[in-house]
Amino acid sequence: MGKVAINIATGSLLQEETIVGIDLGTTNSLIAIVKTDTHQPIALRDIDGLALVPSIVHFDEHANTTVGNPAKELLVAEPERTIYSVKRLMGKSYKDVSKDAGFFSYNVIDDDTDALVKIQVGQKFYSPIELSSYILKELKHRAEHILKTSVTKAVITVPAYFNDAQRQATRDAGRLAGLDVLRIINEPTAASLAYGLGAMKGEEKTIAVYDLGGGTFDISILTISNGIFEVLSTNGDTYLGGDDIDRMLAQHWNKELNIADTDKSMMQQLRVTAEEAKKHLSANDLFEGVIDGKKVSITKQQFNELIQPLVDRTIIACGNALKDAGLKIAQIDEVVMVGGSTRVPLVKESVKRFFGREVHDELNPDEVVALGAAVQADILAGNNTEMLLLDVTPLSLGIETMGGLMDVLIPRNSKIPNKAGRQYTTQKDGQGGMRISVFQGERDLVQDNRKLAEFNLTGIPGMPAGMAKVEVTFLIDADGILKVSATELRSGVAQSIDVKPQYGLTDEEVEKMLLDSLTNAKDDIKTRALVEATTEAQQMINTTEKFLTKYRKAITEEELILTNTHLQKLHDAISAKDKDKIQHATESLNDVSRPYAERVMEGALKDAMKGKKVI
Ligand code: ADP
Ligand code: MG
Repeated sequence: MGKVAINIATGSLLQEETIVGIDLGTTNSLIAIVKTDTHQPIALRDIDGLALVPSIVHFDEHANTTVGNPAKELLVAEPERTIYSVKRLMGKSYKDVSKDAGFFSYNVIDDDTDALVKIQVGQKFYSPIELSSYILKELKHRAEHILKTSVTKAVITVPAYFNDAQRQATRDAGRLAGLDVLRIINEPTAASLAYGLGAMKGEEKTIAVYDLGGGTFDISILTISNGIFEVLSTNGDTYLGGDDIDRMLAQHWNKELNIADTDKSMMQQLRVTAEEAKKHLSANDLFEGVIDGKKVSITKQQFNELIQPLVDRTIIACGNALKDAGLKIAQIDEVVMVGGSTRVPLVKESVKRFFGREVHDELNPDEVVALGAAVQADILAGNNTEMLLLDVTPLSLGIETMGGLMDVLIPRNSKIPNKAGRQYTTQKDGQGGMRISVFQGERDLVQDNRKLAEFNLTGIPGMPAGMAKVEVTFLIDADGILKVSATELRSGVAQSIDVKPQYGLTDEEVEKMLLDSLTNAKDDIKTRALVEATTEAQQMINTTEKFLTKYRKAITEEELILTNTHLQKLHDAISAKDKDKIQHATESLNDVSRPYAERVMEGALKDAMKGKKVI
């Protein structure tokens, strides 16, 4: 990152681009980088030394935007023009959030469909993606100002419980802000990266990451072994955080103040004062203030009693996460505190008591996620090659089968990237199509789960019921984004299509995409098979040749001769344009090279780990 390279041909200096890490939070967002000289992650700060940018967007009457602290100051005066907690709306339909619509002081639009929510400000309508992109643009500008170079590549974090639609929406917000989002990573994974736990050679640790922010609560159990991270389980609540503490306190006071729900400006002032009181009580025993000309106060003890149920809920989730991971409390080696709300003493004490140990709070709890994203960015930039990251799916993924049952293909807490497939068949004689409905969730009936996508696989040739073999494949890429394909195997018209989460695409569009690919299917199939086989072969040749050059010394003379023979055979097969021959020759080359490839990689890995810190 930020490395200076020299182009050997021209002698000119090439400035490599910095990849930034971004925590796009419900309450606060920030941007971080790994410093070239110290290799340490740092948060980028404004002139006043502030790293946190409140995730708040204000619109004036000409639809000009202001983001961050200046927007936050307008929360009370202009509640309908000042958008906060937009992350709660990312990738969601109005149905998803209707029960919480009262929480927002601005206008969340109900168009009575499954479509994504919109926010109305004045005469204009904005999607949560657009609103988030304003926040990301602000962060991008800040980074460009400080680094004095353009910033176009980023790693962005999301809560572990974000589903595919929400991850996709985050990615799109990045794109809209002019950022190429190289990776979406889970916040708890980022936090543990920032702490660099398990960085010592031969160290193996089990870590609990407790993240209580403004809007979400996540508890994740991770293991780190020889620099390899693995998430064992995640649990939590996307509707539990500091906002709820503020609301409880506001409601507590409002029993005396009797401010009407409809007095939005006054309700907002109540909320702001509640947050102020909460922060004050993290370091003091009493808060006294004034709202609407009336005195309000609360002691730390009263405050603790008020929020105890909320804290208890987080502790119950911790127990569930442990259960999912199949671990006992005593097996947790480290506990990491993340999120501004972990500054509340009762929260910290409760977590310490539950886990029976001290917790990590050395780093700023509201900055660790961005710092970890920067570390991940550094890995992607190729500056830190020793680490591997494995994540898990937060919810089960499956399709609807007979009787509206959920058939799970990828269970929750499966490692990603991941691939799973299962065969299905037709119910009726001559059935020409099959509806594939993709759901996410844990319930047995699909109606209780969340629909991600739906499409018709058509063009199945007529055959008796139960004869067709439709293979449905789920592929989750490293970003946690799901691709679904359906293939009718028996007819030979093997077809597949990627289906994005339903967000943004109507059923008709998804269906059309599928139909389009099927219409041209029969003619294309032969050419495509050959092209695919050739591509794979070419990749195999490249990899092998690179390997031979790089690790020549580690390969025996016999192995080299054998490999060259098979390389030649594969080249010949490609020239002959014979799909079967190509595939066969690719396999043989793979068989020949596998033993020494494995031997060399094992040695290289050991060398890489020797005496090195992993961060
Ligand atoms: P998010 O990840 O949701 O963007 P943050 O990690 O930035 O959130 O945490 C924001 C929350 O932390 C807010 O609810 C804020 O009121 C709370 N917070 C920040 N500082 C303190 C403090 N000193 N004491 C208690 N809560 C705090
Ligand atoms: Mg956060």
